[in-house]
Amino acid sequence: MNLNPDKAALTFEETATKLPVLFVGHGSPMNTLEDNTYSRSWAELGQSLPRPKAILCISAHWETKGTQVTAMEQPRTIHDFGGFPRELFEYQYPAAGLPALAQLVQETVPQTQVSLDQRWGLDHGTWSVLARMYPAADIPVVQLSLDRTQEPAYHYALGKELAPLRNKGILIVGSGNIVHNLGLISFRQAAQAEDWALEFDETIKQLILLGDHEAIIHYEKLGRVALLSIPTNEHYLPLLYILALQSEQEQVSFFNEKIDLGSLSMRSVRIG
Ligand code: ZN
Repeated sequence: MNLNPDKAALTFEETATKLPVLFVGHGSPMNTLEDNTYSRSWAELGQSLPRPKAILCISAHWETKGTQVTAMEQPRTIHDFGGFPRELFEYQYPAAGLPALAQLVQETVPQTQVSLDQRWGLDHGTWSVLARMYPAADIPVVQLSLDRTQEPAYHYALGKELAPLRNKGILIVGSGNIVHNLGLISFRQAAQAEDWALEFDETIKQLILLGDHEAIIHYEKLGRVALLSIPTNEHYLPLLYILALQSEQEQVSFFNEKIDLGSLSMRSVRIG
């Protein structure tokens, strides 16, 4: 089976429609296999969105020194987790890469040096969601890394630079979790959401609705609830890329507004 689309036919001309951008709370990789409210919403999204030419994903699970973009023809499926069933370790998401898109990303962000990567692939931040959105794996996927040496403001600024891609048929997806504290996670049946998790998640929702991106970038000023919700910020940073892509007056909506396992916010954001 050849899942590679005819790349010669893929051009990045301006399209009539500007694609929405998404921040998806990915949570547990088991969402790929389970039929639950999250995986169902991802499947519905894949069916209802205009079909993209390619996907650019900013995943919480790829941190590098300097910003990189995957540039291989065929990215491998990376199983970057432990303690899950064998079925999940054997799961493959065979979407093609798209070196031409990696180059386009480089050209689109002249303010930032982005290097081409040949070693990474698709980590579970990307494939756990796309497996349900686009189960046929017939849309090429490229990942953009998180430069772990940079402050949140860098990530927001880089997100803004990616804006022209929305008019070229590229679906930009940020994959992380607004509240992500694995140290305080609970696997009890019907675990209650922690108060601080609910409070921080709601605060971010209100700030998004107000368009107060500065307060979201400088989340550490939001006090104790922010520190508990973001012990390390790799799951939060993909949200900044997506918010940065909101143009003036552009509509924002939420889905999967739930706290999973006590301390994981599944809140997801759609802009446009
Ligand atoms: Zn994750």
